[in-house]
Amino acid sequence: MEENSILHVGAPNIGSREKFFERANQMFDRRWLTNRGELVQELEQKLADYLGVKHCISMCNGTVALEIAIRALGLSGEVIIPSLTFIATAHSLQWQEITPVFCDIDRNTYCIDPREIEKHITPKTSAIMGVHLYSRPCDIEALQTIADKHGIKLLFDAAHAFGCSHKGTMIGNFGECEVLSFHATKFFNTFEGGAITTNNDELAEKIRLMQNFGFKGMDDVGYIGTNGKMSEICAAMGLVNLEELASVLETNKRNYHAYKTGLDTTPGLTLIEFNENEKCNRQYVVVEVGADYPMTRDELMEQLHAHNIRARRYFWPGCHRMEPYRSLQPNAGMMLPITEEIAERILVLPTGTVVDAKMIERVLNTCKGKYS
Ligand SMILES: *Cc1c(COP(=O)(O)O)cnc(C)c1O
Repeated sequence: MEENSILHVGAPNIGSREKFFERANQMFDRRWLTNRGELVQELEQKLADYLGVKHCISMCNGTVALEIAIRALGLSGEVIIPSLTFIATAHSLQWQEITPVFCDIDRNTYCIDPREIEKHITPKTSAIMGVHLYSRPCDIEALQTIADKHGIKLLFDAAHAFGCSHKGTMIGNFGECEVLSFHATKFFNTFEGGAITTNNDELAEKIRLMQNFGFKGMDDVGYIGTNGKMSEICAAMGLVNLEELASVLETNKRNYHAYKTGLDTTPGLTLIEFNENEKCNRQYVVVEVGADYPMTRDELMEQLHAHNIRARRYFWPGCHRMEPYRSLQPNAGMMLPITEEIAERILVLPTGTVVDAKMIERVLNTCKGKYS
């Protein structure tokens, strides 16, 4: 029954099936399934136009895109990142034997705190990788100033921020490059997928080579590369979903405001705020459970789960408390008081095109359960 339907965080936004099957059929007729076919080229062009960025190189997923970006930038030694992020941010570095150095976050934005960064800079630091967490951009200017001052690189894990803007410019245009994820659970998906965006021609060329085994020509390999290619069927999904982006944006905005209205009158629960003057995908409805709420965050999560509302405590307990970082850097938490506090308080609620007003009411009633 509708009343008991299971609500998930990250249920995919899916565009027109007819258009998808039509594109899939054309793809089969062409017998071109991968290796930069028509669909991948069309998607890359449309994404670059939408973001207003010079280069958009599609990828098989966001994690491999991060690994390639890190490699193409020649990073080494240590890279400063937040700990409150998806584990792939840290893993993409450690996978290449680069140490992720965890920096605390700003209480107001949950993003990496520029005031904390210089404490972590050593002669081994090669870059700062900011994460635009929960659709909200980092303090990009402050990070750029620090990076320039120390002669280190700045890049962004923008997996949460496709379709978001910062001071009127789309995310995708900042730092040396930005990395997007088009995983099924993200605001915009290609089943699995991702992209690197950059305005730097030379870097874009290098990324393209690395993504395709380093092939410069038919039988000519320039240097070490991997396989980061997006397939045609994934690009078809992207093209179809791109057509409905405006409506998904509207739905998420409507959902967010429905949550906001309900939670404004619920003591102890605070919904994250977005800058209403910027473009924002509002894919993450994040609630902070305060000390004045009658339950702990985990108790509230259990209550929601009991009502088939699969809220998630992303990104508890923080990368630094997961392996291998917990063992490699046992004292990292000492420098991360805000991260540790926030990770205990946040809960992500369901949104997206499968969520309607009635479902949100169900979530809100469950959140208010203790008061009735
Ligand atoms: C989803 C995500 C990734 C990884 O993307 P995949 O496409 O799933 O590999 C990286 N960083 C963050 C912050 C993410 O949310």
